[in-house]
Amino acid sequence: MQKGKVSVNTENIFPIIKKFLYTDNEIFLRELISNAVDASQKLKVLSSRSETGEIGDLKIKVAINEEKKTLTISDNGIGMSADEIDKYINQIAFSGAEEFVEKFQDDKENANIIGHFGLGFYSAFMVADKVEIDSLSYREEETAAHWTCEGSTDFKITKGKRKKRGTDIILHINEESKEYLEKYTIKNLLSKYCKFLPISIEFEDEIINQTEPLWKKNPTELKDEDYTAFYSQLYPMSEPPLFWIHLNVDYPFKLTGILYFPKIKKEIDPNRNKIQLYSNQVFVTENVEDIVPEYLMLLHGVIDSPDIPLNVSRSSLQADSNVKKITSHISKKVSDKLKELYKKDEKDFQLKWKNMSLFVKYGMVSDEKFYDRAKNFCLLQSENQDDKGQKFYTIDQYIEHIKAKQTDKDDQVVALYTTDLDAQHSYIEQAKNRGYDVLYMDEIIDNHFVSTLEAKLEKFQMKRVDSDTVDQLINTEDSLEAVLSEEELTKLKEAFSKDLDEEKFVVETKSMTPDDPFVTITRSEFERRMSEMQGMGGMAMFGQMPEKYQLNINANHALSQKLIKAKAPGKKKIVKEALDLAKLSQNLLKGEELSAFVKRQMEKL
Ligand code: ADP
Repeated sequence: MQKGKVSVNTENIFPIIKKFLYTDNEIFLRELISNAVDASQKLKVLSSRSETGEIGDLKIKVAINEEKKTLTISDNGIGMSADEIDKYINQIAFSGAEEFVEKFQDDKENANIIGHFGLGFYSAFMVADKVEIDSLSYREEETAAHWTCEGSTDFKITKGKRKKRGTDIILHINEESKEYLEKYTIKNLLSKYCKFLPISIEFEDEIINQTEPLWKKNPTELKDEDYTAFYSQLYPMSEPPLFWIHLNVDYPFKLTGILYFPKIKKEIDPNRNKIQLYSNQVFVTENVEDIVPEYLMLLHGVIDSPDIPLNVSRSSLQADSNVKKITSHISKKVSDKLKELYKKDEKDFQLKWKNMSLFVKYGMVSDEKFYDRAKNFCLLQSENQDDKGQKFYTIDQYIEHIKAKQTDKDDQVVALYTTDLDAQHSYIEQAKNRGYDVLYMDEIIDNHFVSTLEAKLEKFQMKRVDSDTVDQLINTEDSLEAVLSEEELTKLKEAFSKDLDEEKFVVETKSMTPDDPFVTITRSEFERRMSEMQGMGGMAMFGQMPEKYQLNINANHALSQKLIKAKAPGKKKIVKEALDLAKLSQNLLKGEELSAFVKRQMEKL
């Protein structure tokens, strides 16, 4: 028998290990099973070089013994001799755990990601008072060895009883961790971490995993059904995906995986169906925000890469050059796939567009390179529906389409858009009557997207249809003359200003055609964007700005003449009625005002 102390500087390593990763202590199981997988794969390699005899089926078994309060992980991999246990467990593994504790004991913030890897064998002491190793090396000349350690720095190595090649790791589960003696806890953990491990894992006479998951297979051998079946295995009860990308990179980093495009709804639930990160088929995390750019997180699926460093802090992860390369590679693959789909079948692409536009725009807004690749397939949807119900243009096509009618006196192309077909209906109609086209932009990302387009395209501006009176939306030289005199215009203005909240409304007279509406309310593009940004918390330092609108009176409308000539009571009535109607069409007539308006109209019947 050999007795000794594990080589150690930090005497109190075990209490620290226990306490430190308390919340994430379930990872012990993944760590031990990963070791068992490694031991099995090492044996496979040796066997392929004919350095072993017949190795038989490789399998890892997990078993609970309720009476003895033990959890045992057994493999038939390479096994360890007494000397190897001493070397790998007492010295090397321990120094790994020690280094980990020294590095991170004061770094709570990173506890989570560190918990993902790096502690190895000694993580067993997070849940066990005592750990035993029973092992027999694959080398014929070796004998079985037994190691025990009771959570102090003392260990014991004796002769072991194991007759067959491989290793048992026996955990005597401590009082606080007795949940790990329950079948369903273990079963859940196994299906969380081990579903796709390359060596069979058996628990309760059942095999938990698929040893060759879809992403490891050759894409040329796979059918669409395989991909959709895998998707529903990853995310049961989800709608089928739109399409997918099979990733397979060897150089300059290793990465495999499948990314799925879900049908993206207007409301995204960030807690559902996340991308899962694996490292050599071991599940690591669903928190991939440091590895995958935010817009790509709308995608689903699996990324598997041993090249993503998992035991470093978040900030250094983002700066890691491998991570950067991985990120830009994924982004490129995604845009290539979209481009390919667009080229292959434009009509079909248009049909799918509603489900992808949010994603594409998000990418274009947040990633320059993605913008450059996506600008040729990003579609703009005109509100003006054709026979088939929809009309789509690429950005270039659209500018070409509106250029003739919608270029202002400064040579700027002005694109008009609506965010709400119903609420802005009357404004859309007016714009259409002028021969303008109106884009439909109702997504949450669109206010950012609009700014991005303006920044990227030269001599290009976007305005919402209700941001100005129709004659001013696109500023051309030819404005109409006012038929009223200056004095009459002032009178007209005064008639309206009297009854208006000055904080909220600025009154202006405009010389439009007699057919344009008498009174309209608009809200300038600038004003609205500022307040939207504020709403999104972007400009809190400006404090809450009051909403400002413009009340536009068409001086050339017949009612303007009538109003000027009218006597006091009649005048008041026209003003009141016109104001309410204008408010109504901007959805600003509310509460008491609205009730009074409805009542008045009823009485007229
Ligand atoms: P790591 O796995 O990162 O090397 P561990 O602390 O988990 O660190 O394990 C230390 C070493 O102990 C392993 O590298 C391996 O040589 C040996 N080992 C652990 N578990 C087993 C096992 N089930 N079979 C064979 N060797 C093992």
